[in-house]
Amino acid sequence: MAKRALLSVSDKTGIIELAEGLAQHGIEIVSTGGTANILRKEGIEVTDVSDITGFPEMMDGRVKTLHPKIHGGLLCLRNNAVHMEEAVREDISMIDIVTVNLYPFEETISKKDISINDAIENIDIGGPTLIRAAAKNYQSVTVICDPGDYTTVLESLENDGAVPDDIRKMLAVKAFRHTADYDSAIDTYLSKKLLGEDILRMKFNSATELRYGENWHQEAKIYIEPHLEGPSVAKARQLHGKKLSYNNYIDADNALQTVKEIEPSRPAVAIVKHNNPCGFATGDSLAEALQAAWNGDPVSGFGSIICTNQTFDLESAKILKGRFIELILAPDFEPDALEYLKEKSEKLRILELPELNDEFQQNHTYRYITGGLLKQSRNIGIYEKWECVTDKSFPEDKRDLAEFSLHACKCIKSNAVSIAYEYKKGCFMLLAMGAGQPNRVDSIRKLAATKAIENLELIYQRSKPDVSFEKYCQQILSNCVMASDAFFPFDDSIVQAAENNIYYIVSPGGSIRDDEVIATANRLGVSLVFTGMRHFLH
Ligand code: 5GP
Repeated sequence: MAKRALLSVSDKTGIIELAEGLAQHGIEIVSTGGTANILRKEGIEVTDVSDITGFPEMMDGRVKTLHPKIHGGLLCLRNNAVHMEEAVREDISMIDIVTVNLYPFEETISKKDISINDAIENIDIGGPTLIRAAAKNYQSVTVICDPGDYTTVLESLENDGAVPDDIRKMLAVKAFRHTADYDSAIDTYLSKKLLGEDILRMKFNSATELRYGENWHQEAKIYIEPHLEGPSVAKARQLHGKKLSYNNYIDADNALQTVKEIEPSRPAVAIVKHNNPCGFATGDSLAEALQAAWNGDPVSGFGSIICTNQTFDLESAKILKGRFIELILAPDFEPDALEYLKEKSEKLRILELPELNDEFQQNHTYRYITGGLLKQSRNIGIYEKWECVTDKSFPEDKRDLAEFSLHACKCIKSNAVSIAYEYKKGCFMLLAMGAGQPNRVDSIRKLAATKAIENLELIYQRSKPDVSFEKYCQQILSNCVMASDAFFPFDDSIVQAAENNIYYIVSPGGSIRDDEVIATANRLGVSLVFTGMRHFLH
């Protein structure tokens, strides 16, 4: 028969009904300050914890129930004669039911701009101790930490005034799970705040079903970090369109990272297919950047994912007329642009991410391999040095274009090369790129150079300049900057570039054949800069 219950709750939901029900079974109620006040107001008889401990609640409530008179009454093994003798000797009375729910730590830290001191004051110490002590002694003590279980316990007392074994067991397991979750939230928060540790300490408690995995027959989910700070596709708000697929998330993440290579004040657009930016451009307006990014690869743009750092406006939306797009990600959408895009297609996924231009907060990236998780620091920056290693100098007025080319190259799968063009003063576009080849020379010869000429042909046909196509290509390509994500192992890439009229190249350098590469560059009139920073992307 239960004789005594300790009630100490932060969430007071249902506590009055529980106390009344317990009192009806002749159970004495013991309570901490706030809980006792509420119960007394309802005319329920309550013994204060401080009357039992002989100590006042003190230190702003940090110390209330942490006392042998309480914990002895919870932990004492009723069938152990020595325990029972000690309890009698120390005047400790048994506690049979404990109802505790904890200071709202998770709720507190999920509020914006919460100070670390506020968070720490919301770490409950006495509560988990009560819960764990009661749960450890579940053979004699009933522990309730969820108001949803009050009725179950009250109903179970109806028979003989004792809570049955199976309910006590169930509640004990639930209690340990509750304190484990609670401590895990504290661990995650303090690891980040005090030690700067990240995702590996996170508990991914919410998983959203995705349409499918990389392929239709694969099931997929996304687990989202709790309290995620900074820009992330995982927390973008979907305004319209079909549910996202696994590949949508991957491509949108690449598009976001690519766009974020450009400072937010400069309109930029990335168009991504299969985890590679096939279009990437800056402009004086979003529409200009979008058009230039599209011109970079109008063929691959079909079914692509588009990300911009600007508010999406109607002029830009109209550029996409008649073009099949999977997803658009932007910090914001003008209402008329949104309407236009919604009408354009029922399926088009439109994602709004107001924090898009904030700095990334995650300092590491992760990749799962069977049986292991790879962790590395984020790839920040584009070069460590700027050293022109050839007779032909690298013009200062091509530096911004070269940097743009490096930003693009960084986001393309290795072996990556990017050919960037200044299509208007201060406005840059990715004219062509080579991605994912197991050797560098093929990335140039078979992909980037060929693709650049194809794209130029389309632009040539549209703008009909007064020169031959050959001359036009030569004029444009000879002003482009090609970036390479890693060193040139042989001079063949330089030969290929020069054969295609590309004379400005940036690369990390560092090959054992650098001398050979530089000699060839000098012979062919190529200007080559070594940056000292590799950008493999696997
Ligand atoms: P009350 O509102 O009744 O004053 O306080 C209830 C809260 O105090 C509950 O959330 C309970 O977990 C917590 N609590 C109980 N004993 C202690 C203690 O000794 N120290 C601290 N920090 N919290 C306690």
